[in-house]
Amino acid sequence: MTETRVISDILQRAADGGRITPEEALLLYTEAPLHPLGEAADAVRRRRYPDNVVTYLIDRNINYTNVCVTACKFCAFYRAPKHAEGWTHDTEEILRRCAEAVELGATQVMLQGGHHPQYGVEYYENLFGAVKKAFPQLVIHSIGPSEILHMAKVSAVSIEDAIKRIKAAGLDSIAGAGAEMLPERPRKAIAPLKESGARWLEVMEVAHTLGVESTATMMMGTGETAAERIEHLRMIRDVQDRTKGFRSFIPWTYQPENNHLKGRTQATGLEYLRLVAVARLFFETVPHLQASWLTTGKDIGQLSLHMGVDDLGSIMLEENVISSAGARHRSNLHELIGLIRTADRIPAQRDTLYNRLAVHWTPQDDPKDERVVSHFSSIALPGGGAGRSLPLIDAK
Ligand code: SF4
Repeated sequence: MTETRVISDILQRAADGGRITPEEALLLYTEAPLHPLGEAADAVRRRRYPDNVVTYLIDRNINYTNVCVTACKFCAFYRAPKHAEGWTHDTEEILRRCAEAVELGATQVMLQGGHHPQYGVEYYENLFGAVKKAFPQLVIHSIGPSEILHMAKVSAVSIEDAIKRIKAAGLDSIAGAGAEMLPERPRKAIAPLKESGARWLEVMEVAHTLGVESTATMMMGTGETAAERIEHLRMIRDVQDRTKGFRSFIPWTYQPENNHLKGRTQATGLEYLRLVAVARLFFETVPHLQASWLTTGKDIGQLSLHMGVDDLGSIMLEENVISSAGARHRSNLHELIGLIRTADRIPAQRDTLYNRLAVHWTPQDDPKDERVVSHFSSIALPGGGAGRSLPLIDAK
């Protein structure tokens, strides 16, 4: 059989909902013609979501500290302990930011921060408990396996105990953060002090087993090979086969400013779109696929809606981590909905669990709140911008 025929057969099987192997995924990623690849991925999306709805979310990423002992080379957000630009926010400041988010219609907060040397399980219990008590309507989709491993170590408890305790305190869902690249070689090159990819997955598996679902992410563009990108997908799918706990997969591209890795994003728009399409075909067990307009830009974000993507992510009322490294694509509610509608899809606001809160069947149904805009603060806003109301300093 010719390679063209082989590729065509794999695409057809995947489009029909069949499973493809990692080797087949790599062949599609590197060799499949772009348009048939996108058509197959979109066929999977259409079968899953035949009403043509593409969702978005309103949430706020709130950072409780930028102090971190892990020093990932790609990170522009963290400051080492005792650094003059290090800051921590008290609970009052976090609640003030949550209140602003609720006022603007947010349904979710993503509480993220560095690995502060003193933050054990008790810190997160208090934080989540306070947020849940003040805003029971907000879903706490927060932290990631790295933070869980760190807090368990600081408090000298097991991963299982840490997760049970923060779940009881109010954590609803674990963010897919910190996955970066899961295979060992590229992960060690960019984050030598971070837990291994296997440990990242182990924490997710324990959480899923305890009834806490999560998302999964991937940061591409730091020098990993095509085979390593597909290996990252395989590692996630193997866990998903056992747990069914990953709701969505969210690939994004490395941002090269203000960090120790520097260089440039080694993932072009086309590489991103191809990866998105292959992910849709490979993850027949992961329900949702989210594009990262923040890192790739709105044009690529919109194009991804024709490569199998069914979710355009969040407005992000506040984001400081990825924008610190150079991602400066802003949006607002009206524009994000417009991107979905002009891609010939039906926009709908969702919550964390992908329940549809409002489907905007026609432009007359579109929400008109012009205050719902993404805001990014600078990397070293004195005190992390404590006490400042939205808008924070916006990246220009
Ligand atoms: S990515 Fe997270 S763990 Fe790594 S240095 Fe930045 S804040 Fe710390």
